[in-house]
Amino acid sequence: MCGAGISGLTVAGQLAERGWEVTLLEAAPERRTQGYMIDFFGPGYDAAEKMGILGRLRELSYSITEARFVRPNGRSQSLDYGVVAANEGGKLLSLMRQDLELTLFEALPESVEVRFGSAVVAVEDRTDYVTAVLADGTRISGDIVVAADGIHSAVRHSIFGDSAAFDRQLGMHTCAYTFDSPKLHAKLGETLVSTDELDRMVGLYGLHNGQVALFAAHRVDDTVLPANPREAIQAAYAGMGDDVAEALEKCPEPSKIYYDQVAQIELPVWSRGRVVFAGDACQAVSLLAGQGASLAIAGGLLLAEKLSGDLEPSAAFAEYEEEWMPVVADKQAAGRRAANGFLPHTTFQLWKRRVGLALLTAPVIGKFVTSAVTGTKALNQ
Ligand SMILES: Cc1cc2nc3c(=O)[nH]c(=O)nc-3n(C[C@H](O)[C@H](O)[C@H](O)COP(=O)(O)OP(=O)(O)OC[C@H]3O[C@@H](n4cnc5c(N)ncnc54)[C@H](O)[C@@H]3O)c2cc1C
Repeated sequence: MCGAGISGLTVAGQLAERGWEVTLLEAAPERRTQGYMIDFFGPGYDAAEKMGILGRLRELSYSITEARFVRPNGRSQSLDYGVVAANEGGKLLSLMRQDLELTLFEALPESVEVRFGSAVVAVEDRTDYVTAVLADGTRISGDIVVAADGIHSAVRHSIFGDSAAFDRQLGMHTCAYTFDSPKLHAKLGETLVSTDELDRMVGLYGLHNGQVALFAAHRVDDTVLPANPREAIQAAYAGMGDDVAEALEKCPEPSKIYYDQVAQIELPVWSRGRVVFAGDACQAVSLLAGQGASLAIAGGLLLAEKLSGDLEPSAAFAEYEEEWMPVVADKQAAGRRAANGFLPHTTFQLWKRRVGLALLTAPVIGKFVTSAVTGTKALNQ
């Protein structure tokens, strides 16, 4: 297994429970603690229930009662978050990404060998076995490699080459970090406050540990990542009011910030030989679709299930791809449709979002607007 993110931990745990001997290679020196609040719903919610981790996720989840959208002139529009959850049939948890990762880590069977500080740089696929080559030259061989190393997957580059054709940039950057501000924490309460203007957004909410979390996104002309994310953040979100100004002033050093491109990965085949891809490495839907973590868990469980039957790995990979790729393609398309609602670029788009938010609280209509926001199909629920 390559990558101990949400996808890698799911596949590793589920394969080990089904009798596979699993070595989990993770580039980071220790468990990653950076993250942002995710709305956890859809197929991943059902998969988590099946995996028996829903209780722990509920314990770690947040009770967000309201999302408030604040305009530059100070006027605001509120959304009762209970309505969003109700429109998902109550099957929605607000979770910090790292708490979801922690839950999957805690659930790993003891038999899984986790090696932190082990960056895979290449994969060599032979007829009878496959070898992962680490940055320090170590070579580890096995029957299969599951590449769950995220959107910038080194294994994908190793197997398919560095093709920009797989990488659909959506013209935005996103970031997240946490900081101390007891005053702002008290002010936020159980409300998620988001700015409401063109081309950029900042969301703020209070965490269980007393810190405040920031999550932000902005449109960019050049999608290349900046050398110094802290400076880029402070420039991109300047002039957005006092609370954001405090958050920018308290922006930590680059190693403590999550900063990345908003992109989708569209890999036309999800396996080659003894190597199979999972999670963002092959199916990133981007934060616009809002279900990356959910799909990583549900797809990971499906892959493990396919590998646990009588099928040869190549046949299991093919069934996994055939069943799961259309689900992902659907969510990716929904994510792209949501782009202008998420970060409006024109005043008309901004107006449309405000009207949409107002309708979200209306019964019946709300269900359809939720489906537009979350990418789920209201009629099928
Ligand atoms: C700002 C933001 C908001 C989001 N909001 C939501 C939401 O509301 N709902 C939702 O469901 N999803 C959301 N997502 C998406 C979700 O977090 C991801 O889609 C999901 O976590 C995918 O997990 P992954 O395990 O595939 O990849 P990753 O989380 O990227 O994990 C990959 C792992 O592989 C490791 N790795 C990388 N390279 C190597 C290497 N060469 N060798 C070994 N290890 C390596 C990395 O260190 C990492 O631990 C959001 C994403 C962002 C960016």
